[in-house]
Amino acid sequence: MERKRILILGATGSIGQQTLDVIGNYPNQLQVAGLAANSNWELLARQAEQFQVEAAALVNEEAARQLRDAAPRLKIYSGAEGLQEIVRELNPDLVVAAISGLAGLPPIMAALELRCDVALANKEPLVAAGQLVTTAANRAGVRLLPIDSEISAVFQCLQGEKIEDVEKVLLTASGGPFANYTKAQLSEVTAEQALHHPTWQMGPKVTIDSATLMNKGFEIFEIKWMFGLEFEQIEVVVHHQSIVHSLVQLRDGSVLAQLGRPDMRLPIQYALFYPERMANQLGRLDLAEVGSLTFAAPDPERFPCLRLAQEAGRSGQSYPTVLNAADEVAVAWFLLGKIGFMDIPRLIEQTLEEHEPFSVNNLSDATAADQWTRDFLGQTAADRR
Ligand code: MG
Repeated sequence: MERKRILILGATGSIGQQTLDVIGNYPNQLQVAGLAANSNWELLARQAEQFQVEAAALVNEEAARQLRDAAPRLKIYSGAEGLQEIVRELNPDLVVAAISGLAGLPPIMAALELRCDVALANKEPLVAAGQLVTTAANRAGVRLLPIDSEISAVFQCLQGEKIEDVEKVLLTASGGPFANYTKAQLSEVTAEQALHHPTWQMGPKVTIDSATLMNKGFEIFEIKWMFGLEFEQIEVVVHHQSIVHSLVQLRDGSVLAQLGRPDMRLPIQYALFYPERMANQLGRLDLAEVGSLTFAAPDPERFPCLRLAQEAGRSGQSYPTVLNAADEVAVAWFLLGKIGFMDIPRLIEQTLEEHEPFSVNNLSDATAADQWTRDFLGQTAADRR
């Protein structure tokens, strides 16, 4: 059997490293064709060596220069275009898209044009340009496979079911590290506190998004676009233990769930081998040890990001693109200590209110909405000074 050739975009991040961990367990079935990252050239060099990779890409030019010196036999692409170039050069069987932010969109589109299957961990492209990505995937006749644990859960529950039979999706949320904080406590939260997530180890952007529940808002978009459902069919339920990764309610009232220990390597493995199930050595769920599973409705007062995401989704046009960009900017400012935790939803809401929407039919429309948002927020910051 030919080994599946995999290109990992975002190889040095949390999902990228765990993807390599999974690939390392199946050397006869899977092969790393290439690795791409933003700037961590030292880790990328070690990964390239370990997996005998021939091509790599680094967005940061200085980091790419360092890598060229350190690994002269490696073919290296650089700059933002380097991500698309490595996709086109390698033409892999599967692209794992695990870059953070909208930067992941152009290489995903390049992969779809080449008719490569894409395993998506990167949510922002589906938030900002969901229609664009799914239309391109359908046109190419390729698979978009979810890596996000909740979306993978829905995908697994839907195997053998008809999408018309779905009444709703119950999307579970851990509630983040501040699930029980009051509004006053939330406004005092620091970046350092927010970076401590109780169950999942992730990069800084998605960790903050988890704390504000914007991450859950983004997952609503993932479900909408990956499975072709309506926003109204997706309901969020808070489930602190992160054991039930999501549920699907069918038209006869039956509710299907996917459960497992919170370990990203399971949804990653499912995406890499889909539709095959492979035996593994990952830990097993012990329900008696877990004891109880709890569920609660989310609180939109304390976590307005969820409502903002739902509203932007229902309003459509360029609103989701603006939602995504405003969140990227606000989270970056929060991480730098420039704004408070509750300023994140406040700035996003203000930006959405000021936005004059237009339709997003191509990459340049998406870029225009993204740029408008960054300019608008840059101006509000300048006005505050
Ligand atoms: Mg998730």
